[in-house]
Amino acid sequence: MADRNRATLLELLNKPGNNVCADCKSPDPEWVSVNLGAFLCPECAGCHRNLGTHISRVRSIKLDNWEDDQVQAVAELGNEVVNQKYEQFLPAYYKRPTKDDPELLRSEFVKAKYSRQEFIYPDRQTAYCSGIKEGYLYKRGRDDKGFKKRRFCLTRKLNGHSLLYFIKEKDTAPKCEIDLDSVNVVFAKDKIGVNPNGLQITYFVNGQTRSLFVYADDPKEIVDWYYAIRAAKFEWRRIAHPQQDETELAEGLTTDFTLEGWLQKMGPRKTDGFKKRWFTLDNRKLMYSEDPLSPFPKGEVYIGHSDGGYGVTMGARDVRSSMVYVFTLNTPERDFILSADTREDMDQWINAFKEIQTTEPTSQDLRLLRMLNNNS
Ligand SMILES: [Zn+2]
Repeated sequence: MADRNRATLLELLNKPGNNVCADCKSPDPEWVSVNLGAFLCPECAGCHRNLGTHISRVRSIKLDNWEDDQVQAVAELGNEVVNQKYEQFLPAYYKRPTKDDPELLRSEFVKAKYSRQEFIYPDRQTAYCSGIKEGYLYKRGRDDKGFKKRRFCLTRKLNGHSLLYFIKEKDTAPKCEIDLDSVNVVFAKDKIGVNPNGLQITYFVNGQTRSLFVYADDPKEIVDWYYAIRAAKFEWRRIAHPQQDETELAEGLTTDFTLEGWLQKMGPRKTDGFKKRWFTLDNRKLMYSEDPLSPFPKGEVYIGHSDGGYGVTMGARDVRSSMVYVFTLNTPERDFILSADTREDMDQWINAFKEIQTTEPTSQDLRLLRMLNNNS
């Protein structure tokens, strides 16, 4: 009996929609929410467990025993039926969590979907859907490096949206007004040591990329800010490009960094030594700074197509060094001699550069090149 039930469940995995996780769409789900009828990956199943059994009761297809009526109930539902209900008003600017996203994005998605049922009842999306938001976040100081509570506002202007923050509670003039057009926002993951609910907000100011680091005590609050910024950018794009469909408009609203990590970088002269720098590859923009939380990078480099004089090779010509995993990034202006701690790290960086250098730049990429050139 148990074997027959398990065989039925394994067969159900072949039904369209059930071959991927109902929530994050990663392949080969091994868990099932018995009452919801959703097939889930282990990570999302973990989030379901945290919702409480009154909302979702998860069981393993392989490890648990299944009763006939449980299998019958799941057979009648399945991921397509579940998502038709629980994602019927999933906003286009929403980002479905993937394996590379931090835990809080996944757990908040699962809570929003099943606990708060925000995608069944759109009026429950008010915390972020309008692209207008006000609240308090802890912001890292540019100079003093401590985190201080600041009032942030996301507002609509005539020609777009702005993100503002104020130093004092009652200040009417913001300390800073950021045009949302150049803003990117990513989760800071474990970069802000004191709190995992952090965001890194980057934008262009005077030809340089500024990084703001903020966090909130409540994970929902920081995820709401993330979606409020995406919603605001989405709304502005919709006005600017009315002919585009929602999928096109939602593309690249925010971009996760391609790669981040410590590398050793040699100074411009071959007699210079190596210095440890934090590198961030944001699509075609490579930034390096002294610290992962630096407000401004020490350098920013555009990575173009190999036809334009960009390249990457293992090793470095005419360089004597005890470093093992050395590689050279070529740009028309300068060669960057870099060294990774491990072979794996080096391969990751080389592959990331190669991929970019064999991809045709878009008009947005060329705009970035102009912005960076204006600075140098
Ligand atoms: Zn999943």
